[in-house]
This record gives sequence, structure tokens and C-alpha cells, in this order.
Amino acid sequence: MTNTDLKDLKQILSTPKNIVIVPHKNPDGDAMGASLAMKLFLEKKNHTIDIVTPNDYPDFLKWLPKANTSYKFDMQNRQSKRAINNADLIFLLDFNALHRVGDDMANTLKKYEGTFVMIDHHQQPDDITRFIYSDTEMCSTCQMVYHFIEMFGEKDLLDKDIATCIYTGIMTDTGSFRFRSTTSTTHRVVADLIDLGADNARIHNNVYDTNSYSRMQLLGVALNNMKMISDYKTAYITLSQDEKEQFDFKKGDTEGFVNYALSLKGIVLAVIFIEDKEQGIIKMSLRSKGSFSVNEFARSYFDGGGHTNAAGGRSTLNMEETVEKFINLLPNHKEEISKSYEE
Ligand code: 5GP
Ligand code: MN
Repeated sequence: MTNTDLKDLKQILSTPKNIVIVPHKNPDGDAMGASLAMKLFLEKKNHTIDIVTPNDYPDFLKWLPKANTSYKFDMQNRQSKRAINNADLIFLLDFNALHRVGDDMANTLKKYEGTFVMIDHHQQPDDITRFIYSDTEMCSTCQMVYHFIEMFGEKDLLDKDIATCIYTGIMTDTGSFRFRSTTSTTHRVVADLIDLGADNARIHNNVYDTNSYSRMQLLGVALNNMKMISDYKTAYITLSQDEKEQFDFKKGDTEGFVNYALSLKGIVLAVIFIEDKEQGIIKMSLRSKGSFSVNEFARSYFDGGGHTNAAGGRSTLNMEETVEKFINLLPNHKEEISKSYEE
């Protein structure tokens, strides 16, 4: 964000405003952490804040401070639209293009004539907002929210709840501080958050150690379905609608499953294909190690995108055809994949 923009935004926020905060569809720890941290921060500056999520978010995030105050656009459509239409300002957090909130909500946002602010770390952000703070080097939007508050010169407004929300998003988007995007600055920020009262052990417990028995059973199915294609340093997992239903699938249950495929020795490309009969698609999560960009791969072939090492995509073919399409694409990328990551 330029200094002029920062000054202009500060000016706008110097008097009380109605503000709506929007995270991406299927909000994850980073999207919810960033939205709630921003809400708590802006409330301290006497603004009125509504968070409108496109849809529900997983149970393992429902303990976050003030999480239960947000509207879900698909379930609370009237209240959500009213909040959006009354907003002086809309913050778009942790996504880079309007379609990432889903078609229905994107149509409502497209009609909005007020001011948008985007804070995001995904690659190639759309140029649709008056204010944009984009940094693709950042591990998480949550770390950017911390820097945003820092840029405002208002770190004195940080407190335990805000620190807890920011910590959660940094933790989930860095795979618990292990991905390459985790920098020394990230650790300095996190140290500050702990000093502010973020209870790191409890946050890890709340997010990672609250599994249902059925989710662990579903993980068992996923691991059983895992296939390795050693020639292409690739592993993939499939989960059908039937398998999901058999184990009482709930939103968020498959989060992180794809990382088991990436944890195999020698594997640099991992994908999970998850059948979603309601939407009529196969939802894909892609992960890589090293230089092979799953962002480019998902963008080119699977109507998706994301980051170099973590991206999402979708296919309207059936499961078998989608997997076949994927396998048939690998020879075109053999060289890039084999050079991607040296052990
Ligand atoms: P996940 O596999 O966890 O759904 O997504 C991995 C990363 O890619 C996340 O940062 C997510 O926001 C991003 N992502 C997932 N799907 C899409 C997509 O369709 N487009 C873009 N630009 N990013 C995506
Ligand atoms: Mn993120």
C-alpha cells in the first residue's frame, strides 16, 4: 500500500464507519483469524463491524473470539445483504478475486458502489479495489493484519483476543511454522503475540486436537486410497461422496489430508480429489515442494489457483475422468517436477 493510500485510508477511518469484512468461501484459519482480528481492532477504533462469510466455517475455528457474531451469506442472506448495502467500506481478506466468495455473493459485491480494501497474500490479485495491500511473500493474511495495524501506528490497540486470532491464522497457514514462507519476521510477530497473551499451547490444542472419531476414520479411508506415481514424484488421494457420507463428513474434515501425501519420501507433488455431489464438482487441493508451481498448474488446467506450493482447483468431470486427466498431464511437466526439490 502506498503512503498516500495509507494516509487516505487513515483519514477515512478517523471517523466512525459501518464496515463489512469478507473472507473467502470455505474460510480457513487464516481467513477467519484475519477477519476477527480486523473486526476487534476496528471496533476499538469505534467502527461498527459485521463479518459476512460466504458460507460456514469448520468447528475447529468456532472457539475463536467473537466467531459466533458473523453472518453466513448462504444461510443469513437478508441480514448479510443489508450489512453489505449499508457498509461505508468493505474489507476483502485472504482472497484475490471476487469469484473466490462464490457466484451468488460475488454478484452482490459487484453491485456494491462503496469503497473496497483488499488485504491478501495470494498471487496475481485482481485490480478491483480502491485500496490494496498485497504481498505474496507473506506467509498469511494474519501476519499482514499485524503489519497493517503496525503501519497505522496503533500496535497499542493489540490485545489478547486480537493476538489469539492472528496467531491462529499464522499457525494454520504456515503448517505450524514449518513452511518456507515462515520468516524470522514471522517468528518475531509470533513472539509479540505470545507476549500479548496468545496462549500458544491452547490454540494448537483447540485447532489440531479436537478431532472427531469419524474424521480419523475418514483419514484412514483417505490414506488407504492414496496412490504413488514414483516416476513423477507424485502422490494423490481420492475421496468419494459415498466415503464422505459413510464417515459423517463435516466441513473442514478433509483439511490437511493432502499433506500426508506430500509427507511421503521423495514426493514433490501431492493432490487430493474430493467429490462434491452437491456442487457437481471434484474439488482439488494441490501441494508441492520446491519450485514446481501448483498455482500455475491449477490455473492452467483446473480452474483454480493459490500459491506456488499450495493451491486449489476444481473439475466438472467425474472422479475417474478427473484423475485420468491429471495423470495424463504429468508427462508435460516431468522435467519441472523432477527438478523441483532436491532432498
Ligand atoms: P486449499 O487446497 O487449502 O483449498 O487451498 C490452498 C490455497 O489455495 C489456499 O491459500 C486457498 O486460498 C488457495 N485457493 C484454493 N482454491 C483457489 C482458487 O480457485 N483460486 C485461487 N486463486 N486460490 C485458491
Ligand atoms: Mn491465507
